[in-house]
Amino acid sequence: MPVKGLGEYDSNNVFARILRGEIPSRRVFENEFAVAFHDIAPQAPIHVLVIPRGPYISLADFTAKASAEEITGFFRAVGEVAQSLDLEAPGYRILANMGEDAGQEVPHFHVHLFGGRRLGVMLVHS
Ligand code: 5GP
Repeated sequence: MPVKGLGEYDSNNVFARILRGEIPSRRVFENEFAVAFHDIAPQAPIHVLVIPRGPYISLADFTAKASAEEITGFFRAVGEVAQSLDLEAPGYRILANMGEDAGQEVPHFHVHLFGGRRLGVMLVHS
């Protein structure tokens, strides 16, 4: 069942291509549920994207269609990436854009992870 308001998953989006290894990325983590890599245009000293391996467009698409194991595995991976980058003690921020109003550029669900400085007020899109 499609999620209301969403079209079909575009299997040629840039993150699908990164998952298939067609576009290089600087990976910091990968397991069966998630892949994490540095953002190509970092907006903080540490700016990593964490993506599920499955073909999901948005959070609603992910939580509607993915198995409980995939959902748990994905969010556990986000936490593990933050820890592996030594961000737990200084702190960090996660953010996810959904759809046009949020300025989502890549239609594959992803979580931005920012850290490495006092983040202050920050929006990924203005
Ligand atoms: P969104 O706007 O969809 O929340 O975030 C998409 C993010 O993907 C942006 O921060 C953008 O810099 C990043 N991005 C776009 N294309 C590439 C790419 O080819 N490689 C990497 N590593 N990041 C990308």
